[in-house]
Amino acid sequence: MSTTTLNAPAIVILGKGALATARHIQQLYPQALIYGLAGRVEDADRSYSEFGATLRQLYQQDTPIIALCAAGIVIRTLAPVLLEKGVEPPVLAVAEDGSAVVPLLGGLGGVNVMAREIAAALNTAAAITTSGELRFGTCLLNPPAGYALGDLELGKRFVSDLLSGESVRVEGDAPWLAQAQLPENDQAQLAIHVGYGEREPSDHELLIYPRNVLVALSGDLADPAEVVADTVKAALHDSRIAVQALGCLLASKAEMANPALHAAAESLGVALRFTDADTPAEMTQQVLPQLLPPLTSAAGIAIAVAAQPLEVEQIGCARGRLAVIGLGPGATEFMIPAVKAELARANDVLGYETYVRMAGPFRADQVLHCTDNRKEMLRARHAFELAAEGRSVVVVSSGDPGVFAMAAAVLEALHESDNPDWHRVDLHILPGVSASLATAALAGAPLGHDFCVMSLSDNLKPWEIIEKRLDLACQADLALAFYNPISRSRPWQLGRALEIVRQHRSPETPVTLGRDVGRPGQTLRVVTLGELMPEHVDMRTMVLIGSSLTCVFPRANGQPWVYTPRWYGAKPDIA
Ligand code: SAH
Repeated sequence: MSTTTLNAPAIVILGKGALATARHIQQLYPQALIYGLAGRVEDADRSYSEFGATLRQLYQQDTPIIALCAAGIVIRTLAPVLLEKGVEPPVLAVAEDGSAVVPLLGGLGGVNVMAREIAAALNTAAAITTSGELRFGTCLLNPPAGYALGDLELGKRFVSDLLSGESVRVEGDAPWLAQAQLPENDQAQLAIHVGYGEREPSDHELLIYPRNVLVALSGDLADPAEVVADTVKAALHDSRIAVQALGCLLASKAEMANPALHAAAESLGVALRFTDADTPAEMTQQVLPQLLPPLTSAAGIAIAVAAQPLEVEQIGCARGRLAVIGLGPGATEFMIPAVKAELARANDVLGYETYVRMAGPFRADQVLHCTDNRKEMLRARHAFELAAEGRSVVVVSSGDPGVFAMAAAVLEALHESDNPDWHRVDLHILPGVSASLATAALAGAPLGHDFCVMSLSDNLKPWEIIEKRLDLACQADLALAFYNPISRSRPWQLGRALEIVRQHRSPETPVTLGRDVGRPGQTLRVVTLGELMPEHVDMRTMVLIGSSLTCVFPRANGQPWVYTPRWYGAKPDIA
């Protein structure tokens, strides 16, 4: 495997003293994020509270790690996950003051390349210990992007033969080997062979495949993924082309949402791109016009071989992706990891400015589209337009996107649209911790039994329906969670709502008020329904009103705990 799609590195620091070096390294990898220990480093890009768990999670997510701390700490921390099969991203330890760069893991993932880059930027030397790398100045087993190594085990034997003093021939086009100090000799028995043709592996050859082959397909795409993948492999084999040289699958835009096609591309380990041409031969000619007619064009498949490895980003377009995400109440530790990953892959981020800022920091290449809070449908349509161009688009909501937020607006825009490009977008809704749940957790468990969630805003529904629902929810003795309780343009509604509640609930009913929960300046207040006044509440407040059974008792620190018991009626006679 070559280093085709490295994730952006994580630069992990434990203290402020490492920040300058971290920023220096970040200039080399502008997409990298600096992770700082909470409480010790304020202005990192991300904060973490547990070093070990964070490092192991990054490792398991295949994220290259640049840890600015002692190599020993990194080794001990990652030791438990090293024996697991699967990923091995580059891992480096760098001295806090930038005086030493030690590549630790990920020799085949390009760790030595990174170590040299970082060392050059920090004006020091990388502690390279890999013998092949030292001797030849490059890792033969880790060809650059656009090339794939034939077989790792055979490759290791080949390199150890080279190290024992044999000479080598280079067959084919391998521009990056020009700089390597290889013991070259035209008569050598050992050969590095670079080519896209099928070839029997042997001990005397290191096979490297340029990923310059494109397969366009149409035909019966209702086939399951394995059949699609097997058809591609068979067509390559018939043309004597190695499957390792495949760089890209190409299909018609009409097939963009076909799951079998995506699964086949994934199992073949290649990108899947789309064009609007009809036949496979036309597809290849549309994206690679400089080529001669495709190699074969049988049974709905055309194969094109380019002179150089394919630049996949330049071929047709990708299937666009749109994710409607929930940030949670505010603090990043309440944001689910899938949302963080989605933000990292986004090309475009849309939303109300306050929330877009909360979702940051962003990289320079990410485009932010900040709009007014009220323009939900315009924003939803804009998101589909961008995603339909093949971009990766994120629409941000606070809390959960499905709770009085953007998910329903985005689905409404899609439902109303007859644009097939919009319907083919890869659409995901990713949940978040909603304000009612975040507030409830702070107070204890005021929503510990049946409860009712309502928005008191009458912008999008008649006030009468709010009164009716409130009255019925109170009759049913549900605990109540009020979103959008009050605003400058809706000054009287909360007072009227409380009048209705008071017709059903006693003045002692506990009311929990969470303001800016999970954000700077968070406050939590517990009052009684009798004490509650609209002045206690603003548009950044969550109002939780208890049921007839909700109760309060003091915590050790004097603050109250609030909870609604799990049972109803009389307390059951069970532990
Ligand atoms: N989708 C959001 C709710 C949007 S409606 C969610 O799931 O949380 C906006 C209302 O939510 C605000 O008027 C306020 O009542 C409440 N709210 C949102 N974030 C809050 C926070 N951090 N603290 C308290 N209330 C919040």
